[in-house]
Amino acid sequence: MSTAVIHYLAAAVTDRGRKRPSNEDAFGYSVEDGVFLVCDGMGGAAAGEVASSLAVDEILKHLDHTNGLGKLTPPRAAEQAISAANDAIYDRAQRNRKLSGMGTTMVALVTREKQAWLLNIGDSRGYRLRNGSLEQVTLDHSLVEEQVRLGRMSHAEALRSPLRNVITRALGTQNRVTPDIFEMEIEAGDVFLLCTDGLTRELTDKDIEMILHTEPTLEDACNRLVEDAKKAGGHDNITCLIVRAEA
Ligand code: CA
Repeated sequence: MSTAVIHYLAAAVTDRGRKRPSNEDAFGYSVEDGVFLVCDGMGGAAAGEVASSLAVDEILKHLDHTNGLGKLTPPRAAEQAISAANDAIYDRAQRNRKLSGMGTTMVALVTREKQAWLLNIGDSRGYRLRNGSLEQVTLDHSLVEEQVRLGRMSHAEALRSPLRNVITRALGTQNRVTPDIFEMEIEAGDVFLLCTDGLTRELTDKDIEMILHTEPTLEDACNRLVEDAKKAGGHDNITCLIVRAEA
C-alpha cells in the first residue's frame, strides 16, 4: 500500500438557473476538516433557502475539528452533525408557521486521509470519476428512482413522470432522519462531484463525464457544468462541488 499522503482540492459553483426566481441550493466545505456538502432546499416562500443554508451551516459547525466530534470516526461524526442539522431545521419550522414543512436534500463527502464516505438524503447526488469513468455512488431517495430500482419504471419514464420531484427522504421535515452511507478507499486522482438535480436533469452522466475529463481546472469544470445545464434549459437551480484527491 502506498504511504503517500492524500490531500484534497475543491471548487464549487451555484447558480439560480434560467427559470426560478431565487436560488434554494446551498453548498459549503472545509478542506481542513475534510467535509464537503451540497443541499437543495424546499418549502414555500424563502423557506427552502433557510433550510438548505441552515443545513450547511450546522453540519460544517459540528464537523469543525475544534468542536469535539473529533474522537468519533468520520461517518459517526457526520451522522451526529446531520442529526443536529435535522433538529435545527425541524425546530425552526415548528416555531415559525411561514417555515412550516421546510426541508432540504443533502449530499456530503467526508474524508480522513485515504478513507472517504459519501452520505446522502434526498435526490442530490454524489459521483466518483476514477480512471476516466464516472459512477453515481449515491442512490436517489425519490419516488421515481425507487420505482426504477424495483424494475417498475424505465429511466426515460422516470425523467418524464409528473411525480419526478417527489423525494422520499429529506432533512428537517421529520423529527429524525437517517442518511445512506457509502464508504470508499481513495486513490490519488479520484474526482468527486456533489450536485443538485438542477444539473442531473439537464445533463446526462456522459455529458458530465466528458466535462470532468476535458476541463483543465476544477473551477473550469464547475463553470462549464453550470453553463451547459443552463444552455440545456436551466429549469432549476444548479449546484456542483468538485473535489479532487491528490498524492
Ligand atoms: Ca432542485
